[in-house]
Amino acid sequence: MYVNSKKKACEEIGILSREYSLPAETTEEQLVDLVKQLNCDPEIDGILCQLPVPKHIDDETIINTIDPSKDVDAFHPVNVGKIMIGNYDFLPCTPAGVMELIKESGISIEGKQCVVVGRSNIVGKPQAMLLLHENGTVTVCHSRTKNLKEVCLSADILVVAIGRSEMITGDMIKEGAVVIDVGMNRGEDKKLRGDVKYDEAEKKAAAITPVPGGVGPMTIAMLMKNTITAAKKHKGLL
Ligand code: NDP
Repeated sequence: MYVNSKKKACEEIGILSREYSLPAETTEEQLVDLVKQLNCDPEIDGILCQLPVPKHIDDETIINTIDPSKDVDAFHPVNVGKIMIGNYDFLPCTPAGVMELIKESGISIEGKQCVVVGRSNIVGKPQAMLLLHENGTVTVCHSRTKNLKEVCLSADILVVAIGRSEMITGDMIKEGAVVIDVGMNRGEDKKLRGDVKYDEAEKKAAAITPVPGGVGPMTIAMLMKNTITAAKKHKGLL
């Protein structure tokens, strides 16, 4: 689903996209070689490896092989470090999409209690950092957090990225909060559901994102933005 959406977005805006759909037996060495080849290919400005990779391949090794100037997912340690200090070329697509949604909705972050549920390297951690850069007061929750409901209830802005279908219920949301649901969970009925119980949450929230249709499309849009930034940088236009 993700790969198809990315290819379609590229087509729509006129970006050449190449998909390498490799067999599951592909070795780490073969994948590293392919990434190195793409690093040197002048026709290519952006490279991403759709995670997760099979268990016999170390995803860190693959990410670390991508040329940081072509790392449009912003997962390479060089780009992660740049985000920490607030001087970056690319932002990771999902957290950047969340920030765009908040800003475009005219919601101010400064001084707000921001709660991020989830601490993955691709969503939770960078999300917390971006909210901090915008002067939010940020709390990060995870699977060992003891008082999740209480912390969620303190949130003016609640970003949920846990991968647990509809775990955040209406009674965990403060009246008037902004609720951003990153979760994408495919149920047995094949329906996509978020991490937030939407029907209950929307009664409390001042603003809320649906699943599907909320954060997902923003992630793709930010990937396109990063790719254009990379192309401009490679051509000396930025
Ligand atoms: P990960 O599985 O990498 O991380 C999940 C995080 O949630 C972990 O930090 C984990 O804590 C925490 N967590 C799990 N269970 C609980 C719990 N019961 N209470 C509190 N915290 C909990 O997931 P991702 O960050 O990659 O993705 C999260 C969700 O977002 C998924 O549904 C994914 O499909 C979706 N997603 C959507 C995108 C989009 O474009 N819309 C893009 C990327 C992801 P701990 O660290 O302690 O294990």
